This record gives sequence, C-alpha cells and structure tokens, in this order.
Amino acid sequence: MRFASLGSGSKGNATLVEAGDTLVLIDCGFSLRETTRRLAHLGVDPGQLDAILVTHEHSDHCAGVAALSRRHRIPVYLTHGTASSGRCDGSFEQRRFNSEDRFEIGALEVKAVTVPHDALEPCQYRLSWRECSLGVLTDLGCITPHLVESYRACHGLVLEFNHDLPMLEAGPYPPHLKRRVGGDWGHLNNGQAAGFLRQIDAAALHHLVVAHVSENNNTREKAEQALLSVLDSLDRVVWAEQTGGFDWLEIEPERYPPPA
Ligand SMILES: [Zn+2]
Ligand SMILES: [Zn+2]
Repeated sequence: MRFASLGSGSKGNATLVEAGDTLVLIDCGFSLRETTRRLAHLGVDPGQLDAILVTHEHSDHCAGVAALSRRHRIPVYLTHGTASSGRCDGSFEQRRFNSEDRFEIGALEVKAVTVPHDALEPCQYRLSWRECSLGVLTDLGCITPHLVESYRACHGLVLEFNHDLPMLEAGPYPPHLKRRVGGDWGHLNNGQAAGFLRQIDAAALHHLVVAHVSENNNTREKAEQALLSVLDSLDRVVWAEQTGGFDWLEIEPERYPPPA
C-alpha cells in the first residue's frame, strides 16, 4: 500500500492511495489542468483512477472533483450531506453513503469517519488493505473519543497541524475568522494534533504526514516543537506542502514491525 499528495492546505488538497490494483484520489481541490500536471509528477495518468472520495464540500477539497470525474468517467463517493451542497454536481457518477459507513472500492476497505467541522456532513477516512491501514484526518476543530478509537494503530497517518494557537490569536485574520478557525468546528492546532498522537498508538506509525498547515498562522518550528513533545524524533515525519504535496510513501508492516 502506498500514498502520496498532490498538495495540502487551504488552497487545495488531493491525496492518492494505491493498494493492490486499486487507485483512489481523496478530494480534488485543484483545476483539471493542475490536477493532471500534479498527477503526472507522481507517475499517474488520471484515467487510472478507480474512484474519487470526497471529505466535504469546501472548495479546497472539491473544486476540481466534478470536472475530473466527468473528463475521465470516474465515480465519486461522498456523503448524502456533501452531495446536497451541489458542489459535486456534474460528476460522471455519484455514489452516496452515510458518514460512518464501511464499503469497498476494489482491493481497498474504506471506513468513513465523522468529524466536527463546519460543513454539511463532513467525514475523513481510514483505508485498509490486507494488514495495512492508512488514516487521513484533516479539517476538524477538535478531537473526539470516537476519533481516537477510529484511528488507533494506523501504519500511516496524514494529520492536520493547521495552526499555532497564539499565532492565530495574534495574527492578521479578522475576529470572526479567528473564531471559526480556532473553534471546535474549525481546524486543529498543533497542540490538539500532538495530543491526538499521544492518545492513539503512535508507536505503530511508520509514516506521519503533517498536513493542511496554515501559511499564515503556523511555522515548521512551532509544529516540530509540538511533535517533539510526543515523539522521540522526527525520523518518521513528512511534510505535506501546498505546492507539491509529498512523494509516494510505502506502508509495509511486515517490513517494519512495531517497536516492542
Ligand atoms: Zn480544508
Ligand atoms: Zn474544510
């Protein structure tokens, strides 16, 4: 099982996951042209995609979904709530589900996990193939016990480190936006993300990707400080960039048994 990103942040998100002969894209916040260019950079032709999984209707996640789906006849999986936003209308085909459902796409087992975020029916995903599992968790305002349970002992995790709370509070955003981003239905700050890692079994993690990082309200140093309060080192940590995402990462649990 392997995964990569086309870009991560408030200007656009898209994550590739491949397992066996199945290839899916989670979200597509880029134009068709930009998506095609970024996929090519990762060695992927859009026609190879078996599905597009959508997390929610915010434009940094779904602006490019319908065009990509239509052009290459790719089915789109999304919650009923996300579908009701109309933002993915015009897709080739919509397959609707309820958040918390489990379903299969080819070789991949998909679990849609409900998150607190200011969208109609937002979900994030845990994907499994054989004994490997990958969690994707961005765009949420707080950590719930349900999330800790749902993401326990993943081998790979793409986790939001959106902002540093003091930087957000002192930063350039207007008060209503500070309240939205920092609130329980907004985005995770460094401290919340680090706290989440403390609660799940982070020892099983082979790859931790720091994702959806704010360009205005966070720095790499601040996020690293938070990470080092939980992890012994940053050896397994990868940064998802807005411009280039991150390159393919492989999950092979049999090659990396969890530390005793
Ligand atoms: Zn987002
Ligand atoms: Zn969002």
